[in-house]
Amino acid sequence: MTLKYCQGPDCHSYSTQDRLKGMKGSKTYQTRRRSRLIYDEFCDTRCYNDWFQKYGTQAVDHFGRLKEVKHLTEDNAWVKGYEWNNRTDECQHHTINTITKEQRPLTESQFNDSNYTLNERG
Ligand SMILES: [Zn+2]
Repeated sequence: MTLKYCQGPDCHSYSTQDRLKGMKGSKTYQTRRRSRLIYDEFCDTRCYNDWFQKYGTQAVDHFGRLKEVKHLTEDNAWVKGYEWNNRTDECQHHTINTITKEQRPLTESQFNDSNYTLNERG
């Protein structure tokens, strides 16, 4: 199992026992290495927050800053749901438009089919 380095810019500066490594007389606090990391990059939320505080604006500018409001229209406001009917003792599936509140029944297979949607864009 390969260990990955935490990408937190100050990870090595936090003086926890698990970061203190090396031979007596030459011990150093070191960046954490883990097989599993938060978002595959950070040992904990402090390191994640440190990274975002330092690089977040640069990252947003690099990958594309949102410069206008986005709209979710009626055409794409359908979400799936279900409710238990105590009278028939059955699960009833439906899709509901979160804007118009229109509700339409779904079969169980339509409900379970992640490609099935009334939305124009999936
Ligand atoms: Zn870290």
